[in-house]
Amino acid sequence: MCHSDSATVEGVLPIEWPRVPGHEAVGRIDAIGDAVAGWSVGQRVGVGFLGGNCGYCEYCRDGDLVNCKNQSFTGVQQDGGYAESMIAKASSLISVPNDLSSVDAAPLLCAGLTTFSALRNSPARAGDLVAILGVGGLGHLGVQYARHMGFEVVGIDRGAGDRAELAKKLGAHHYVDSTACDVAKALQALGGATVVLATASGGKAVAAAVNGLRRGGVVISLGATDEPIELSAFALLFQSLGVLGALTGTPAAGDATLRFSTITDVAAMVETMPLERAAEAYAKMMAGQARFRMVLTMG
Ligand SMILES: [Zn+2]
Ligand SMILES: [Zn+2]
Repeated sequence: MCHSDSATVEGVLPIEWPRVPGHEAVGRIDAIGDAVAGWSVGQRVGVGFLGGNCGYCEYCRDGDLVNCKNQSFTGVQQDGGYAESMIAKASSLISVPNDLSSVDAAPLLCAGLTTFSALRNSPARAGDLVAILGVGGLGHLGVQYARHMGFEVVGIDRGAGDRAELAKKLGAHHYVDSTACDVAKALQALGGATVVLATASGGKAVAAAVNGLRRGGVVISLGATDEPIELSAFALLFQSLGVLGALTGTPAAGDATLRFSTITDVAAMVETMPLERAAEAYAKMMAGQARFRMVLTMG
């Protein structure tokens, strides 16, 4: 389950109901279309948010599969993973390593891929200061990936105590309590961040984080919110700062996410519920009570 499933349930995106939500699905291929090559029956695969690129639009032909103009979203224009079986386009498939359980693989298909791909494509290099804003559903994976990629890692969240301990346990070198201090000043005291990965933040928190960047740094916003981000062009201009968005990643980046997670022991903290209790699990996630990803199991 992903918080973005609410876009399906509540109709934030244009949806033709009935529609099955869910874009972190793991299973085995049961049947294959005649024209499909490269995959075999019985193979373990995952399906993330991107429903499969077309292969012929200008973006696909330029190698930019994420921005394919004809891509549907899993659980939005086609049925998703809150089900015992689903139909997926071959170009959406992510291969699941044999030594990764389905429960562990599932949350990596959106939360994992999104944070892994954003960090991997960011300008940060080994040793650079990278801050993860929000140590929750996405952020608790982001902290682990950032640590294993060789960055100096700052976890930022509200409150000290448990959240600080968790961030350190997941690999953060530093923790900043955004309720107790000025985030930008705290980051500048550490030398300024090359990258701030804003995982679930509104526009105000993103704008505040920009002032914590070192020159040439970027804030990468992953939180799907329509709250405006108010910025001074002076800061962007005179310090060459950037604010970017990043939408999940390519299927090959999905393969890399799962392999990297397996060899580095990066895992989401999950709570499982059987598929029959999907509505209850969804309500728990929406109430912000999931620690940190709800996973539906079956069979
Ligand atoms: Zn998602
Ligand atoms: Zn395309």
